[in-house]
Amino acid sequence: MAKILTITNQKGGVGKTTTCVNLAASLAATKKRVLLVDLDPQGNASMGSGVDKHTLENTVYEVLTDKVHIREAIVKDTVGGYDLIGSNGDLTAAEVELLQIPRREFRLKMALIDVADEYDFVLIDNPPSLNLLTVNALASSSGVIIPMQCEYYALEGISALIGTIDKINKRLNPVLRIEGILRTMFDPRMSLTKDVSTHLVEYFGDKVYRTVIPRNIRLAEAPSHGLPALLYDKNSRGAVAYLALAGELIRRTKLEEKEQSQEA
Ligand code: ADP
Ligand code: MG
Repeated sequence: MAKILTITNQKGGVGKTTTCVNLAASLAATKKRVLLVDLDPQGNASMGSGVDKHTLENTVYEVLTDKVHIREAIVKDTVGGYDLIGSNGDLTAAEVELLQIPRREFRLKMALIDVADEYDFVLIDNPPSLNLLTVNALASSSGVIIPMQCEYYALEGISALIGTIDKINKRLNPVLRIEGILRTMFDPRMSLTKDVSTHLVEYFGDKVYRTVIPRNIRLAEAPSHGLPALLYDKNSRGAVAYLALAGELIRRTKLEEKEQSQEA
C-alpha cells in the first residue's frame, strides 16, 4: 500500500511543485514506484515532468468528477521514471462541479484506492490555496510535507495551515499528520534565514527535515526543459539535495513501519 503524501502550503512560490517533481524523480531513481498527482490547475508539475498539459486526454479533473477511471488518466513512466496524473485549466471547473457531488471531500481518496497497491509513494502537488482540491488531497493522505522559505512571514502562514490540518484530522481523516517541514531556497548567508530556521526547529523539532534545499539555479531552469533537475544536471546542488531528501524520507518511513509493527 502506497504512502500518500500531500505537498502543500497556501503560500505560492515556496517550492511545492519543485519539491514534488524532484522528490518524485529522486524516489524513482532509488527504484521506488511513484505516482505524482498534479492537483494545481496551473499544471506546473505536469509541464515540469515533461508532460504537455494542453494535449492531455484525461487529467485529474476527469478523475475527480468521475468521468473516467483513474487508470485512464495515468501517464505511465514519464522522463523522471515516475507515473503522473496531469492537470490543466479544466481543473478550475472541478471545484464548482464537486459541490454537487456527494462525499465531495473524498473523490481523490476513493479514486486512489484502486491503484494504491501499485506504488510505494503517491505525491500530491497543490494549488497555493486551501480549497476543496486541497481538502481532497488532505483527506487522501497520511502525511503532509510543508515546503517553506525561511523568511519573516513564513511562520505566520504556517499556523493557518496547521489549523486546517488539525480540522481535517478531526473531521475527515484521523490518520493525517505532518510528515515533515522542508526548508527550501535556503541561503545560509542570510542571518534572517538562520533565525527563522532556528525558530522552526525549536517549534517543530524533528519534524523539520535535516535535508535543506539550497537556492540553486538548476532547479529553476530544469522545468523549462520539461525535466526534473536529476535529469537536467544530476550533479547540481539542487538535484543532490532532493536525492538526500528522498533518502531521509525512505529512512523515516522504514523506522515508522518498524515502530508500528512492534506496537502491533
Ligand atoms: P510553488 O509550487 O510553491 O508555487 P515552485 O516550486 O513553482 O513553487 O517554485 C517557485 C519558483 O521558484 C519557480 O520558478 C521555481 O523554479 C523556483 N524555485 C523553486 N525552488 C528553488 C530553489 N531551491 N532554488 C532556486 N529556485 C527555485
Ligand atoms: Mg506550484
